[in-house]
Amino acid sequence: MGKTIIISNRLPVQLQISDGGLSAQPSVGGLATGMKSVHHGGESLWIGWSGLTKEDIPSELEGEIDKALAENGCSKVGLTQHEIDGFYFGFSNRTIWPLFHYFLEYTEFELKFWEIYKSVNQKFADAILEKADDNDIIWVHDYQLMLVPQMVKEKRPNATIGFFLHIPFPSYEIFRTLPWREEVLEGLLGSDLIGFHTYDYERHFLSSVRRLLGLDVSFNDIYLENRVIKVDSFPMGIDYDKFHNAALKSSALKGKERTDLQKKLDNHKKAAPDTKLIVSIDRLDYSKGIAKRINAFEYFLNKYPEYKEKVRLIILAVPSRANVPQYKLLKREIDELVGRINGELSTVNWTPIWYFYRSLPFENLIDLYTSSDIAWLTPLRDGMNLVAKEYIATRTDKTGVLILSEMAGSAYEMNEALLINPNNFEQQADTLKRAITMPKEEQMARNMFLQNRLRRYSVEVWANEFMDSLKSQKQGTGTYVSQKISPEILEWITSKYNTAKKRLLFLDYDGTLTGFHKDPQKASPDDELYQLLDALHHQENTTLFLISGRDKETFSRWFLDKKYNMIVEHGVWISKDGKEFRLLEKVKGEWMEKIMPVLESFVDRTPGSFIEEKNYSLAWHYRNTDPDFGEKRATELNTVLTSLIGNDDISVLNGNKVMEVKSSNVNKGRASVRMLGEDDYDFVFAIGDDWTDEFMFQELPQNAITVKVGLKKTHARYHVEGVSKVRGLLKEFTN
Ligand code: UDP
Repeated sequence: MGKTIIISNRLPVQLQISDGGLSAQPSVGGLATGMKSVHHGGESLWIGWSGLTKEDIPSELEGEIDKALAENGCSKVGLTQHEIDGFYFGFSNRTIWPLFHYFLEYTEFELKFWEIYKSVNQKFADAILEKADDNDIIWVHDYQLMLVPQMVKEKRPNATIGFFLHIPFPSYEIFRTLPWREEVLEGLLGSDLIGFHTYDYERHFLSSVRRLLGLDVSFNDIYLENRVIKVDSFPMGIDYDKFHNAALKSSALKGKERTDLQKKLDNHKKAAPDTKLIVSIDRLDYSKGIAKRINAFEYFLNKYPEYKEKVRLIILAVPSRANVPQYKLLKREIDELVGRINGELSTVNWTPIWYFYRSLPFENLIDLYTSSDIAWLTPLRDGMNLVAKEYIATRTDKTGVLILSEMAGSAYEMNEALLINPNNFEQQADTLKRAITMPKEEQMARNMFLQNRLRRYSVEVWANEFMDSLKSQKQGTGTYVSQKISPEILEWITSKYNTAKKRLLFLDYDGTLTGFHKDPQKASPDDELYQLLDALHHQENTTLFLISGRDKETFSRWFLDKKYNMIVEHGVWISKDGKEFRLLEKVKGEWMEKIMPVLESFVDRTPGSFIEEKNYSLAWHYRNTDPDFGEKRATELNTVLTSLIGNDDISVLNGNKVMEVKSSNVNKGRASVRMLGEDDYDFVFAIGDDWTDEFMFQELPQNAITVKVGLKKTHARYHVEGVSKVRGLLKEFTN
């Protein structure tokens, strides 16, 4: 196995240049900690921006910086101030961040930002390509680098690439507004595994992939022509022990040993033992709902005035992205709000809000967590929210109440918290009251569950699970069971073909010999296909069958003159040597008039779908419908039909964007086996792309060469990637 390369916007090392000297400190943030087990020793490299622009770095320090980074297993991507402005403060934080957090009104679609984003992503990709070998594992992090996977895949198709998005992925309705939406999706699809915090983000992403790129998605796999991309959710955890142990240590400190902040909090508690402390900690970001929270606090104090002087809200707002105009405005709004409310409600003994605009050292963060009776976190939208998890981890005696917005990714795993809608002031006021009055036993019972889960699913487990999944993707385990036709296998098949005395070939038509069209009638054979089929048909000792679900009229028009053998409608009709079609299976069709009105009602209710009426079957096509809606209706139709049918005479086949109702005793497997019985064949070959072809793959004898087109699970022995590969393979038979 090769090495592991991690890529994120920022490196996990803090560089500082002061008095011409350099200091380099490893970061202690969540991601750096989580990646410890992934990023260690000589087999791993972390690539990213150092935090210093080219203008910041004196040329004489360049070598020293590279050396210091190399000692920490890191390598830098050099960026100018102009690049940082366009790529980071621009496209990342003025386009993607607001859009993905559903702040359409703050989203700027600037071509200039996009161009710089692309060129900086290319810089990151180039930095990877310079270091990466073919069998390396590459893990790309977050929304600043969404184009990198594709840029790397293009040049290193065999490298295994994972991508994790640390922020929400928005619903299709939001994402579609992005002018460069296809490019962003295609960038991400360079990955082999794409991870999100929650199932909802995953679902939104898959929906956009289907609707905007028209790709096939089955459960959480995306099918490209030559590979399968897995999409999954991995909710990020925290370094539980670090927070829990720090809290234990801090509470063991006596008197003077305690931090200044802790001493002040202790004094406050002594002076007002009945006053509850409510803490909220966030970066100063509009997605965190800080202003709304302050308004909701005022609402609470007015609704339940008995709590005036009995509660205090501590707001720690960490400065963030102060270069972006929206953040400057927000800062002013919050300053003013706090000022107004404190001015209006304060008494001699009491200030309702303590507001800190700064970043605090780790010990002080622990002090705030451990001293606060309630943590109140109200993001309007948040990819995960680690503060919620950190608060719970520090509650060593298991007391404390967490009030958490249901719009945070962490809410999915923290059901025992009091979950609120940050826009509902009435609910928040009542929830605050409930938190203040919650009995200790209830607090402890809730926190026990939360702590157990956080301890188990730590950030290290998160990183390892992602890596394990990526590695299994590399080994191709689980996704498909058949073997890909390699040059060696192809040679083996052709040599068997050449030495055989009697050959029998079954070729499916749509999706195998030709691609799909919106209108099935337009998928008529092209000249190249006719030439190929002619060549096969005229080979000695070779019986060629086109085997299809299509109707006999269409195939007569296309192929009867050619005298190819044909089996249509899945095995109802057969034509040999240019003779008119005759019935192969006797089928009863009385059921059709009962089923027809059901299908018609589905056509009425599903724009873009239509019915194809064949002699002995009815097909409901939904290729041209909205993909999600079409799938939903197909599932519904399946349920309706199964309950209606109730006997074994007819069955429902779920093909490629088509549901076909037909008599049960007809399928391609039965038809092909009948043909096999007509002579003594020593080379049997069947190829097809969808579910209806699986009958052949299953029912033909073991020594038949069965080939699936595409990468979906199959009973066939082999697979090829797409129509052009099928034609190439068949051409080999004719050489
Ligand atoms: N944090 C910090 N210094 C502070 C306040 C907070 O390092 O003064 C940390 C906090 O411990 C948490 C992170 O910042 O790990 C915030 O993560 P979260 O997921 O809550 O929000 P994000 O900032 O990633 O949107």
